Amino acid sequence: MTPRKNQLLPLLEALVNPDLEGAACVGKAPAFDDEVPGESDADRLVRLENAAYICRGCPVRTPCAAAALEHQSVGLWAGQLQKQPDQFKSRRKRAS
Ligand code: SF4
Repeated sequence: MTPRKNQLLPLLEALVNPDLEGAACVGKAPAFDDEVPGESDADRLVRLENAAYICRGCPVRTPCAAAALEHQSVGLWAGQLQKQPDQFKSRRKRAS
């Protein structure tokens, strides 16, 4: 859940969303970030898999998925990696 400057307010709104009370990720935010500086691809994959495992047992997974869509959040939310449309676009460009 790495916020960009223009995403910080919506992210804060999502984090204080009463529907997300009891979230299993409280206090574990870096594990849910899209990217961590200096992290290898292999380490990133393991970290995100571990975070997704936490999501599987989270009692607020459904409202979390709704909040991720509503706030166009980035990072792992409700067990799914969320990216901004421009991130998909840039990755597609690199792949072609
Ligand atoms: S589903 Fe995952 S990201 Fe969402 S609140 Fe629960 S633990 Fe956090």
